[in-house]
Amino acid sequence: MDCLFCKIIDGKIPSKKIYEDDQVFAFHDINPQAPVHFLVIPKKHIATLDDVTEDDRSVVGHMVYTAQKLAKELGCEAGYRTVFNCNEQGGQTVYHIHLHVLGKRQMTWPPG
Ligand code: IMP
Repeated sequence: MDCLFCKIIDGKIPSKKIYEDDQVFAFHDINPQAPVHFLVIPKKHIATLDDVTEDDRSVVGHMVYTAQKLAKELGCEAGYRTVFNCNEQGGQTVYHIHLHVLGKRQMTWPPG
């Protein structure tokens, strides 16, 4: 499958890995939008949030748990932003779901 993030999981494309277990992989975003900006992705290829099924509930929950655990480890105790972009109008550019985690700067609302 020609998926950038599947290739990162497989080590075919290098990444700045933060964490990995049997279900998820976390790495620093190549174009950070905050002093801390990393992505948590499932090892299973799921193209968009719309493709998440009942069977995926546990891995998506594990992505969220991993995001908060790593945010704290990376010094975001004061707070952080988590984002799933879905499809074109949602701003999704890589079609393998990923949870953005941004921290160590003041976030504003609404996002762009
Ligand atoms: P999206 O716009 O929500 O799909 O986010 C995709 C994210 O992947 C963007 O923040 C990109 O900077 C990031 N990205 C794209 N290619 C790479 C890469 O090779 N390594 C790390 N992050 C990447």
